[in-house]
Amino acid sequence: MSTFQAPKGTYDLIPPDSAKYLAVREAISAPLKNSGYGYIETPGFEDVALFARGVGESTDIVSKEMYAFETKGGDKLALRPEGTASVLRAALEANLHKAGNLPVKLWYSGSYYRYERPQKGRYRHFSQVGAEAIGTEDPALDAELIILADQAYRSLGLRQFRILLNSLGDKECRPVYREALQTFLRDLDLDEETRRRIEINPLRVLDDKRPDVQKQLTGAPMLRDFLCDGCKAYHEEVRDLLTAAGVVYEDDEKLVRGLDYYTRTTFEFVHDGLGSQSAVGGGGRYDGLSEMIGGPALPSVGWALGVDRTVLALEAEGIEVDVPATTSVYAVPLGDEARRVLFGLVTELRKAGVATDFAFGGRGLKGAMKSANRSGARFTIVAGERDLAEGAVQLKDMESGEQEPVALDALVATVRARLA
Ligand code: AMP
Repeated sequence: MSTFQAPKGTYDLIPPDSAKYLAVREAISAPLKNSGYGYIETPGFEDVALFARGVGESTDIVSKEMYAFETKGGDKLALRPEGTASVLRAALEANLHKAGNLPVKLWYSGSYYRYERPQKGRYRHFSQVGAEAIGTEDPALDAELIILADQAYRSLGLRQFRILLNSLGDKECRPVYREALQTFLRDLDLDEETRRRIEINPLRVLDDKRPDVQKQLTGAPMLRDFLCDGCKAYHEEVRDLLTAAGVVYEDDEKLVRGLDYYTRTTFEFVHDGLGSQSAVGGGGRYDGLSEMIGGPALPSVGWALGVDRTVLALEAEGIEVDVPATTSVYAVPLGDEARRVLFGLVTELRKAGVATDFAFGGRGLKGAMKSANRSGARFTIVAGERDLAEGAVQLKDMESGEQEPVALDALVATVRARLA
């Protein structure tokens, strides 16, 4: 061990477990790549005001959990706590919405940072794969994203997840509801901080997990009863499209999510094997976000799925992700001349697309064969001076244990044929 450790609330992805994370990222992004979403990558940090305005000044994410700092040049930046605001900022900056091809569909994968109290499933550095469809108001687009996430989880073999669905209304009906809710909440017996929240973001109070607060919330006005006709019809269509696609969801009228920018459709994916940190992913429609960050009106919808929690969900369901052995051939040279010849063969095999590794460090046969075994390679190539004098190497099948000489110039073709 060195003097240093990974910072609190973070962990390293190391082999062989790290392969699971790659497989999860791949499984989540595959349905997106297959559905017209283009890859986008944005910086790990942004102007702090982007998140303050976009995600919302009053949210926990911005007010308590953001890694904000000032650079030596005086810029006020923050490590990104989520992906949507950055992706929309980048799309607007590149004028993607003006190319006459709406919606702009983008997917991303990366690291996010929140100064949270660490526990299992909740980290200060975590990774997400996300998708955003920018510039179109169409219930089919909301449905598409939910269907693709469902498909991604299912392709990994996950079954014990549920989809929670709600509508948060729009700029017509939400303010009316907000006022009715505030009137109700102001009469309750609540602490100072929650009272402040009533004035800034009353919907978040509904999300309060404390039992004494939940008890007082019985009889609170529900948004469902305030939705305008447009929002109702929109939500009905999203629900119908999901049902037609065979996607099972639960209506959850208390689902408000921790970010201020959501309008209309909101959803969350929860996994029942994860304890308190059960949300594996979430998203929704954010029709007002573009204007909040100084852009034109661009109704949009998106989601982000947590890679760390998806891996935990796989473990909770006892699912082994299929991770193919990384090495097919392992080369073991005996002596200096063999080292030069085999190293050349290794390069040739690799160029021919065969995953190959080499016993570095001039180790003896026994140690090198142990490494060959551990690598999971199907074949081992062993060669000493006598083999080379005959223009051959020994090709050993690690499954059957059989070994035979193969001419140097026939090796690549022979190995490829046997692996096929
Ligand atoms: P959110 O933007 O908060 O809705 O987060 C979307 C998803 O990212 C969640 O459902 C989690 O899977 C994941 N996530 C969010 N915060 C964390 C965290 N602190 N640690 C691990 N995963 C997280």
